[in-house]
Amino acid sequence: MRACNLLPFLLLLAACQTNPYTGRSQILWTSEDEEIRMGLQAYGDITGKVKIDKSRALNDPLQRVGRAISTIADRDRARLKKTPYEWEFILIRADKTLNAWALPGGKVAFYTGIYPILQDEAGMAIVMGHEVSHALLRHGGERYSQALIVAGATTAAVYAAHNESTERQIAFAAAVGLATEYGFIKPYSRSHETEADKYGLMLAARAGYDPAPAIGVWERMARQGGGRPPEILSTHPDPLRRVENMKRWLPEARALYEQSRQQPNAPLPSIR
Ligand SMILES: [Zn+2]
Repeated sequence: MRACNLLPFLLLLAACQTNPYTGRSQILWTSEDEEIRMGLQAYGDITGKVKIDKSRALNDPLQRVGRAISTIADRDRARLKKTPYEWEFILIRADKTLNAWALPGGKVAFYTGIYPILQDEAGMAIVMGHEVSHALLRHGGERYSQALIVAGATTAAVYAAHNESTERQIAFAAAVGLATEYGFIKPYSRSHETEADKYGLMLAARAGYDPAPAIGVWERMARQGGGRPPEILSTHPDPLRRVENMKRWLPEARALYEQSRQQPNAPLPSIR
């Protein structure tokens, strides 16, 4: 809310709206359709440059968990009379990369390097819930809108950015926090991460995954990476805080899990 008050001169352009899922105030200059279009374009660019692993053994759990969680997210969209996203879940072969991301509109990628940390489908559901939440809560569009403010908070600059499609695309890719190999990673802010952690945990529980493994997933993630935290943790200098949050949210998540149609849990196959 404060950002909106600080920038009254931008109010003509900035749509300050309440996020319908969390009740938090967001500035969004983009329409959802526009975010989805840019998300699709970024997705096309990335998938042309990485090695996609299509093996059934590794992909079956990803598709199962992705479908289960995105179904719940689409149910939340349906409540707002919004159509489902065109979800896709891909696996990028990069055994040393501990990461996952989601683009506006529902294109989600996991890296093979994260599998050993997740251990099983319930663990995967925790990170899937987190990524799906970034898409559902329109964090990409919000970051992009923030980036436009930083880039030059004048009407002219905003219009220039709106009219320059290549620059816009680059700003967008940076804003949604794509992988480091593209050299322009900007991780989500800590508040986006915390919001995705909480909403994602509830999504996983509502989809029928035991939320308890969330503690172990984030603890194992925090122990990885040596001197440098994994990308997925890069906005979290204090991973213990994240674990503490998870513990605090667990009773609420467990209640949702107990009301849900529970999913079978299977260990993830080895990536070797
Ligand atoms: Zn995140």
